[in-house]
Amino acid sequence: MEAYQLWVNGRDAAGHGDPILVEDPATGETFARQVNPPHVHRRFQALTLDNDSDVDEAINVAHRAFRSGVWAKAPREARATVLDKAAALLIQQLPSLIPLEVRQTGRAIREMEAQVPSLVRWFRYYAAALRTEERPVLPTSGKLHNWLERVPLGVVVQITPFNHPLLIAVKKLAPALAAGNSVVLKPSELTPLTSLLLGPILKEAGVPDGVFNVLPGLGPVTGKALVSHPLVRKVDVTGGTVAGRAIGAIAGGNLARYTAELGGKAPLVVFAKANLDAAVNGIAFGSFIASGQTCVAATRIIVHEDVLPDLVSRLKQKCESITRRIGSPTNPASSMGPLISARQLQKVEALVGETLSHPESAQLLCGGHRMSGASALDGADLSKGYFYPPTAILLQSIGSSVARPVLWTEEAFGPVIVLAPFATEEEAVQLANETDFGLGAGIWTEDLSQAFRISGQIDSGIVWVNTHHRNDPSSPWGGATSGSGVGSENGIDAYHAYTTTRSIIINYASAEESLANDDWFKEGAANVRYG
Ligand code: NAD
Repeated sequence: MEAYQLWVNGRDAAGHGDPILVEDPATGETFARQVNPPHVHRRFQALTLDNDSDVDEAINVAHRAFRSGVWAKAPREARATVLDKAAALLIQQLPSLIPLEVRQTGRAIREMEAQVPSLVRWFRYYAAALRTEERPVLPTSGKLHNWLERVPLGVVVQITPFNHPLLIAVKKLAPALAAGNSVVLKPSELTPLTSLLLGPILKEAGVPDGVFNVLPGLGPVTGKALVSHPLVRKVDVTGGTVAGRAIGAIAGGNLARYTAELGGKAPLVVFAKANLDAAVNGIAFGSFIASGQTCVAATRIIVHEDVLPDLVSRLKQKCESITRRIGSPTNPASSMGPLISARQLQKVEALVGETLSHPESAQLLCGGHRMSGASALDGADLSKGYFYPPTAILLQSIGSSVARPVLWTEEAFGPVIVLAPFATEEEAVQLANETDFGLGAGIWTEDLSQAFRISGQIDSGIVWVNTHHRNDPSSPWGGATSGSGVGSENGIDAYHAYTTTRSIIINYASAEESLANDDWFKEGAANVRYG
C-alpha cells in the first residue's frame, strides 16, 4: 500500500496522528495510507494554541518563510518566472498526476486527461498578471503623489474538496503564490494524494522551502485547527455549505480574510426556442460530468411545456447511452465514474428514494438504482464500487404549481436531475431562483433578446447561455448568494483578494510651502491644512 506523509518546509514530514486510509471508489480497495497524519492537540481543537501540534509547526514554518521575505518580497518578475516554470513542470508530471487523480477520485480518465493539463493556464495567467499589473496613482488633492502597492497578506490556509483535487488547489494556489503569500493547503481526506505531489513540483520550480506546505487530515480536526490558528491571515475554502459556515465563523473570530466557494443547485432553463439536441448535450455535460459531483451541476432542469415531451425522449436516449458505457475509470472509453464513497452513494439513494416515494408527483425517466454486476463496456465489476447511473426524474404539476421534493432544494452531489415544466418566462425565472444557492445557472435559447432578458434576472454568480460549466482563469467563479459562498475565484479579483493595499503618499511641496501651509499649531494660525 502506498504511504504518504505531510509536505512541510520543502520536504516530506512525519506527522504524529492516527492513520487515514484512501479508498479507490471504483473498486472499494484501500490503496494508500497516511503513515503519519498531522497531530492536533485536543486543546487546539478548542481554539487554543498548542505549540506541540503539527498544525502549529506547519503554520510557524510558513510564517517564518513569509517574514524572511524570500518570496513575499521577491521581485514580481521573479515570482512570475517561478509560476511559469511550475506550469512547465506540471506538464512533465502529467503521466503520474493523471492516473493518481483517477484512482483517488474514481473519475473517468477521459475527464482527467482533459482537466489536469488545463491547470497550467492558472499558473500562466497569474504569472502574466504579475508581469502586466499596473499600479494606480491616485488623484489625491494637494502637492501629493499617492500610489498604491499591493502586498501579500501572510500565511493563508486553503481547504479543498474531493471532486477536483488538483484543479481547485491550483485555482487557489496560483493567485496566492503570485501575490507572495505563504500557503498551507489541506486537501480533502478522501483525495489527498495529488495535492502532495504539488510540493516537489513547486519546489523544483523555485518556490522557497516553507512557502508551500500540504497538511492532509480530517476537516473537523486538522482543518479546524489550521483555520483557528491566530497567525493565519486568510482562509480560502471550497466545500459544502455546512463546512463553509463553520470555517467562516472561526475565520471571522480571528478577523482573518475569508473566501468560500460552497454548494450549488444550478437551474438549467430550456426555452421553446432552444436547439433541443444542443440543450440535451448541455444537460448531460452540466449534470453528469464528474458523476454529477460538481458545485455547478445542472440539477434542476426547467423546460418549456411545448418542448418537454421531445426533450424527455432525447434525454432518455442520452442517459441510456452514457449508462451503457460506464466501466472502469481507467478505461479511456468509460463515460462516467462512480460516486466518491459509500456515504455519498447512500445520500443519493436516499434522496432519489424519497422523491420516488411520491409517484403522484414524480416519474422516473431513467436510472434510479445503484449499478451492479459486470460493466457492459469492459466487464469491470460495478458492484465493488459506488456506481450510480444518470438519473432523471420528471416532476408533475400539482394544481397550478410544480411538486417540489427535497431533491429540488438539496444538493445531492450525484448524477441525479429533476425536470420541471413551465409555461411563461416569469414562471421559468421564479423556478430558477427558488434556491438558497446562487452559483451557476444555464439558459438554452436561440432567441438572443430572450437570452439577454433572462440572464439578467437569474440570481446567480455565473449564467451560461447555450453552454455550461465553462471555467477560465480570467472569468470570475463565485456564488451570488450566501449559500454558495463569499467572494470568487479566478481573475484579477482573486489575486487582489490575496493582497492588501499599501497607499504611499509623498508630499512634494517645497519645505517653504510646507512651513507656510502645514503647521496646524502655528500661533494665530488660520487657513492651514487639516486632513
Ligand atoms: P466538504 O465540505 O465535506 O469538505 C471540503 C473540505 O473542507 C475538506 O477538505 C474537508 O476536510 C474540510 N472540512 C470539512 N469540515 C471542516 C471543518 N469543520 N473545519 C475545517 N475544514 C473542514 O465538501 P466535499 O464533500 O469535499 O465537497 C463537496 C462540496 O463542495 C459540495 O457542496 C460542492 O458543491 C462544493 N464545491 C463547491 C465548489 C465551488 O466552486 N463553489 C467547487 C467544488 C465543490
